[in-house]
Amino acid sequence: MTHRSSPSSHESSAPGPEPRALPTGQGPRVLSADSIPRDALDADALRVVARLEREGFEAYLVGGCVRDLLVGRTPKDFDVATSAHPRQIKRLFRNARVIGRRFKLVHVVYGQHIVETATFRSDPLSTEAESELGGSAAEEPEEHTREALDDLLITEDNEFGTAEQDARRRDFTVNGLFLDPMRNVILDYVGGIDDLERNVLRTIGDPRKRMAEDPVRILRAIKFATRLGFRIDERTWEAMIDNAPRLARSAPPRVLEEILRLMRSGTALGSFRMLRACGALSVVLPAVDQFLGDPDDAAAQPRAETFWRLLEALDSDVHQGFLPTTAVCIALLYLRIIEREADPATREGPGVPPDLLTVTGEVLEPIAFQTRLPRKDTARAQRIVFQQRRFTQVATKRFRPLLFLRSEDFPEALELFRLRVSARGQGWDLYEGWRDRYRRLLSAPPSEVEAEFGPDAGPAPRRRRRRGRRPPPA
Ligand code: ATP
Ligand code: MG
Repeated sequence: MTHRSSPSSHESSAPGPEPRALPTGQGPRVLSADSIPRDALDADALRVVARLEREGFEAYLVGGCVRDLLVGRTPKDFDVATSAHPRQIKRLFRNARVIGRRFKLVHVVYGQHIVETATFRSDPLSTEAESELGGSAAEEPEEHTREALDDLLITEDNEFGTAEQDARRRDFTVNGLFLDPMRNVILDYVGGIDDLERNVLRTIGDPRKRMAEDPVRILRAIKFATRLGFRIDERTWEAMIDNAPRLARSAPPRVLEEILRLMRSGTALGSFRMLRACGALSVVLPAVDQFLGDPDDAAAQPRAETFWRLLEALDSDVHQGFLPTTAVCIALLYLRIIEREADPATREGPGVPPDLLTVTGEVLEPIAFQTRLPRKDTARAQRIVFQQRRFTQVATKRFRPLLFLRSEDFPEALELFRLRVSARGQGWDLYEGWRDRYRRLLSAPPSEVEAEFGPDAGPAPRRRRRRGRRPPPA
């Protein structure tokens, strides 16, 4: 299974005919939603919309779900936007919980399933921004507007608005479509349908302004473009290049989350190449960018290639249904840097390389601090990089394979080893040997474990369950 739909597969996988424009007066472009099969809509989200409408409020399915339905993908979740205020929503649904401190959202809960229901918001910056930048801001040279753009970083995002304002405050045209399931129409305030038909990713409004007010949109643009197989509109791309340095001012946890999403997308290789091309990689992962060297430096290319092969291996695993944990992602990003620093011939740090565990700490700790990486993920990443040498080590008194197999880190260490083997294209026999031993350890009765691994086998390791993880591909 692949997570990527190419531009051509988008056309062929769109269910039924293209949406047909219906006559309208002023306001949004209104299109028939006949191309979306009714049973593709989430029943609970439909219930929420129907109830709100019955009570006289406006309510729509919004954002990613509408985009995905129109390109024939299965939406991850169905979000609702409405004219009802949080307290009014709460009053209508016994199963509603108001969440959020600054901007209140309502979760309407059906068993395990939550329908996120938000009141239409306006972008508090839209009017201010226009006047600060002046009417002709789009044509001004960058120097004239830098200060104004710096001031645009979103700080407040909590004003209620109309459906149109709510559409316009969203990031990309293809994410700004509203589906009215009661009338079976799509409301397009932002030109999203045209862009979906042409496979183009474009910001809503002036790209320079939209990227400046929230530079994390640069990472989101790469995520959506690679996921959907869309081309990034030229002015949007230029704005990504211009605003990449501003990512340094974005909240580190948001940046980290988007990087992890790119790594789990199945298109990590393409995403990272794009990150580098627009200048964002040197801001969000400077050590990785430096490791890759200057694109014109022929001497750096072989080592850069070893990094790209790791991402390729990761994509291939993701396509087989495997979701890397945060520790595996972090380890993979910095593995080659750690290896280089641990080698006296290539070390860039001061002095002779200390032991591998110390080098791993030297590389990962400052990064963990900058990106506010959770301690436990950094520590685990550190350990699984260190443990890589175990896979080629022979059993001795000091190294007992059984203890290694039983360690809590083993499954992730083995995942990282598989990615390394896959990137190098050699060592599969070693990997399969360890994988098979681990499987036997999990499934064999204690007597057999004892026969194979010796008398000190002890209890079988606990199977750990992690969110979103599936067994590694055979
Ligand atoms: P996914 O399938 O990855 O969840 P999505 O489009 O649903 O994609 P979310 O991050 O879940 O993306 O956000 C939901 C919607 O909220 C988006 O479709 C977009 O309309 C809006 N949105 C999210 N983040 C931003 C942002 N940084 N700026 C403006 N609008 C945003
Ligand atoms: Mg979403």
